[in-house]
Amino acid sequence: MTIQQDAIELLTSATTARIRFSFAATSGWQVQVNSSSFRRVADALESGRLTLSTDMSVLPAGAAALYNSATNTLSTRALRGRVERGLFLHEAVHASMDLSLGGRGITTIDNEAAAYTTDALYFRMMGLARSRWSASLHAAAGTVADGLLRQHEVDTAALNALRTAITNHPLYNPYKLIPYLANG
Ligand SMILES: [Zn+2]
Repeated sequence: MTIQQDAIELLTSATTARIRFSFAATSGWQVQVNSSSFRRVADALESGRLTLSTDMSVLPAGAAALYNSATNTLSTRALRGRVERGLFLHEAVHASMDLSLGGRGITTIDNEAAAYTTDALYFRMMGLARSRWSASLHAAAGTVADGLLRQHEVDTAALNALRTAITNHPLYNPYKLIPYLANG
């Protein structure tokens, strides 16, 4: 299988279809992540609206995957293991926001909160040992994922703790007040 086929299979898999949650964004509207989000990305890869790249030279140090909303490109390592797949789904959430928001915009903090919650849910559902996703933001998202698996809705206190962790993280702090570029 090509990496494109791997990506589409993952985006449309039964496990991915179980990733479903929503929360109120800072701006008031509902952020929604569900099977339609991932189907949208799979369709865009099939139609060529999104490009998949394995060029790792574009990635910041330490990153395993990246979505560039200016070029509509998803960059990823080969989707061989659960870690790579979960991090790809994180970037797919960013791609889905870009495809669906039509310039409405979302803050970087809310966009990342949705993406980290997605990878944590995937890791939990796949039984990946916590020690393999213990970096601070994944761990904070893990608390949101625990609540979702328990009560099927986002716990506001856990979500706010994740938002604070993202806001204070050096990767995102410079962008915390800048709307994410969602240009389709
Ligand atoms: Zn992200």
